[in-house]
Amino acid sequence: MAGECTADKGRSFLPQLVTGGILPVMETTMTNAMNLSKRALGVPTSPTLAITARVKELKAAGEDIIGFGAGEPDFGTPQVICDAAVESLRAGQTRYAPTPGSPEAREAIAAKLRTENGIDCSASDIIINNGAKFTVYLALQAIVNPGDVVLLPTPAWVSYKPMIELAGGVVREIPAGPDSDFKMTAPQLEQALDGQVRAIILNSPSNPCGTMYTPDEVRALAKVLQSHPDVAIIADEIYERLVYTDEPYLSMASLPEMAEQTITINGLSKTFAMTGWRIGYACAPGHKGEVIKAMTRLQSQMTSSITSFLMTSIPAALQKATAEVQAMRETFASRAKLIHGLVSQWPGVTCPQPTGAFYIFPDISGCFGKTSAGGVKIKAAMDFASALLDEARVAVVPGEGFLGCGANHVRLSFACSEEDINRGCQRVREWLDQLT
Ligand code: PMP
Ligand code: GLU
Repeated sequence: MAGECTADKGRSFLPQLVTGGILPVMETTMTNAMNLSKRALGVPTSPTLAITARVKELKAAGEDIIGFGAGEPDFGTPQVICDAAVESLRAGQTRYAPTPGSPEAREAIAAKLRTENGIDCSASDIIINNGAKFTVYLALQAIVNPGDVVLLPTPAWVSYKPMIELAGGVVREIPAGPDSDFKMTAPQLEQALDGQVRAIILNSPSNPCGTMYTPDEVRALAKVLQSHPDVAIIADEIYERLVYTDEPYLSMASLPEMAEQTITINGLSKTFAMTGWRIGYACAPGHKGEVIKAMTRLQSQMTSSITSFLMTSIPAALQKATAEVQAMRETFASRAKLIHGLVSQWPGVTCPQPTGAFYIFPDISGCFGKTSAGGVKIKAAMDFASALLDEARVAVVPGEGFLGCGANHVRLSFACSEEDINRGCQRVREWLDQLT
């Protein structure tokens, strides 16, 4: 059955990151000596960021670790983008900026969305935020009331569930598995919709699955959602330019009948290799601008705006870095092929071909019940990832935090060099060969 998970469903993800091995110890705040809020106590650390940080620490300590954990490009930010920021800094643009972003940066984003994505919008429909993660958070804060149901097709990126819950929302999963290419179908969506549903998060191409909804699939989902106009669609399109199929990318909001129902989210982190810059944005046309105004009010009380001297780097990225972006995309496309070929040779592991983003999501449940050379009994993806890091010095993200059938999978990011892909996949293969 799609989405069926053979790992132990009752085990919670985070305590298992606290292993005897070298995976990070996650704070689960079991005690409450400082009278921390329920909100703070309830929120887990992001496992993807924790693993990325741990790999950096181990490498800095001289360990020969191969990291497939980080969802961040290994390229430098294109020079033309850096130059724009440096020029602004030198020119003294160091004061508070307008909360939703400078008019020029908002217009550059609107122009990109109009010409590249076919979304009918203008600068006033745009807000710029401190990273797309915060954009998703603000969108949920703007539209979700306590008790509202938010649909989450799973496996899904680790941060959506905590962010929905921080807004008081209730997560309703729509599980999909490898047999449907990790994509929910229109009938599944129809079945999940009722009067309690306030929003759905759609992430295509998907983190962690590396798959993309085709234009026909987007249209089929749109047809269902169109008859539920009160359900907002949060379309996280952050990997929209990193696509490796012949199918074109179709943005939900480019369908005229869906434009006002959709909050399109994107950012510069992935496409432009700008993860540390923290630039994300949302586009929400219609409703007399109320969605963007609400997000702007919230942001005015939280972070004010993004760093002011980074505003000019937004038009620079969107208009002047085309050649660099194309070169990075081509490199990711060839890495996608390379890693898929290598992972497919792992004994007992199955894996669909990635068609977007920079993730591959193999099913490792064939290893459950086996014991590693270091004596670890592998009962779940967490055991697999932990033993792999301890014994073979290869970091992958265990799938439990991605929900749904994720517990049968591990995520590998191929935002790393071909040399690392070759060496890392070879190490995993040798480690797998020794399982008994
Ligand atoms: N959405 C998805 C699906 C992601 O994988 C990420 C990765 N961090 C983000 C949003 C947020 O990106 P950022 O905050 O770096 O812009
Ligand atoms: N989104 C990236 C990942 O999944 C970066 C880390 C994070 O923000 O979760 O690895």
